[in-house]
Amino acid sequence: MKTKFIFITGGVLSSLGKGLAAASIAALLKARGLKCTIQKLDPYINVDPGTMNPFQHGEVYVTEDGAETDLDLGHYERYIDVFTSQKNNFTSGSIYHRVIQKERRGDYLGGTVQVIPHITDEIKNAITSLAGDEDVVLVEIGGTVGDIEGQPFLEAIRQLRSDLGKENVLYIHLTLVPFMGTAGELKTKPTQHSVKELRSIGIQPDIILCRCARELEKDIKSKIALFCNVDADAVFSAVDVDNIYKVPLKFYHEGVDQKIAILLKLPAKNAELAPWEDLIEKLEHPSGEVSIGIVGKYVDLKEAYKSLHEALIHGGVANDVQVNLVYVNSEDLTRDNVAKQLKGLDGVLVPGGFGSRGVPGKVESIRFARENKIPFFGICLGMQCACIEAARNVLGIEGADSEEFHPDTEEAIIYLMTEWFDFRSQCMERRNKDSDLGGTMRLGGYPCVVKHDTKAWDAYGEENISERHRHRYEYNQKYMAAMEEQGYVFSGTSPNGELVEIVELKDHPWFLGCQFHPEFKSRPMRPHPLFREFIKAAKQRAKGKK
Ligand code: GLN
Repeated sequence: MKTKFIFITGGVLSSLGKGLAAASIAALLKARGLKCTIQKLDPYINVDPGTMNPFQHGEVYVTEDGAETDLDLGHYERYIDVFTSQKNNFTSGSIYHRVIQKERRGDYLGGTVQVIPHITDEIKNAITSLAGDEDVVLVEIGGTVGDIEGQPFLEAIRQLRSDLGKENVLYIHLTLVPFMGTAGELKTKPTQHSVKELRSIGIQPDIILCRCARELEKDIKSKIALFCNVDADAVFSAVDVDNIYKVPLKFYHEGVDQKIAILLKLPAKNAELAPWEDLIEKLEHPSGEVSIGIVGKYVDLKEAYKSLHEALIHGGVANDVQVNLVYVNSEDLTRDNVAKQLKGLDGVLVPGGFGSRGVPGKVESIRFARENKIPFFGICLGMQCACIEAARNVLGIEGADSEEFHPDTEEAIIYLMTEWFDFRSQCMERRNKDSDLGGTMRLGGYPCVVKHDTKAWDAYGEENISERHRHRYEYNQKYMAAMEEQGYVFSGTSPNGELVEIVELKDHPWFLGCQFHPEFKSRPMRPHPLFREFIKAAKQRAKGKK
């Protein structure tokens, strides 16, 4: 079968959950035995989301091949359990960048370079390059129909229907059907306008998904179908849910995947939904609960910790407990109030981050968790802070620090390695303090060797693992022996031992820091081993308190 393409656009307003809708549809197609992947096309001009502020844009999701991508790729990987890559996320900036590079190289032979056809061709290449052996490629167009930046993307997907054949392309439009309390009814006008806008650029949607607070009645669906020129059975409710993992089952019961299969003539089997049903059952009926404190900087914007949040929920699923997340602003944490701020928590997690803001509070929370034997999980910057804490409070090296916060520190337990063997590129990597901020990060999947008889081993149960990274600084092995003497165990390193990947504490219920971001590889049906073990320890602590 030739690869089929499904394009998902959004109208009326942003934040309707297009990414989740796309991921859920893909999950249903996968459950029907089809091989699929998803791509996100973002209209903004930034070349990648790597240097964008998480406050504005949410988390930067890192793929196996080291691409810094939009957080929607995290949803995709979690819902369909595939690895995405650089090819799954393009921005207008990255498309223009490619075209301009080609122009500079003289590829266009001096011809005038234009949005149509040069930019649109580049977009079409980016889309079709994903086809491979996929049965279906879903493409989510970021932003809202009508945005200036989004126009070239819409033009490109319009052209693709004639390029690839009508029978191979499907357009889905997600809109909002608001409920007006005063009139006591659901309003279809914004949807009509949004589809009108889409049709004015030549795209007639095949399916309309209506985000709504309550299920749409048949007559409302018929009205939308009539005004928007779609089949009466191609208008679906995308009703608000209290748990994002319910969306695939909701869509299934609405018949969304069935309609897609019919329209695209997909050789779809009956959907195998037992894993999703089990998941919801576990999420809805946990046997207990734990409270986990996330001590970080972006506590006001939960989107900045999207994957982390999900991975903790997955850890709860694995242990049959509900995980209550308590966001603690590290900037408000001091030695005097730490006990109060972390009171009642069954586990403390210090996530990744950049810059020195809030670091003293993070270090305090780690000391508190270490001394009071509260399960502690440090991720990336969290691990680095745990090492700084160890050096300062256990080894008594007062000035111990990271070169990220104090480049001239004499006691750099976390430092910028100037030379190391890079297992991804298989050659020596060199960098210095003047290196470009984005360009020198260790990004993507790197191998790690796990030591036997450690907490890390209990979690993974295997020696050779690979985890995803996004950081510049590393642990300085000058301090290793001294820390080992105090009960710290370096339970994971790069295969040649040059880079420390996991550090843990022996006489503690569960105290572990890792230089990588395990949250990126956690899946609802396959909770990440470290999150599973962390929540397990938190559950034991919660039990002990009773
Ligand atoms: N800022 C730290 C570094 O660059 C940690 C990064 C992170 O937590 N992702 O090494």
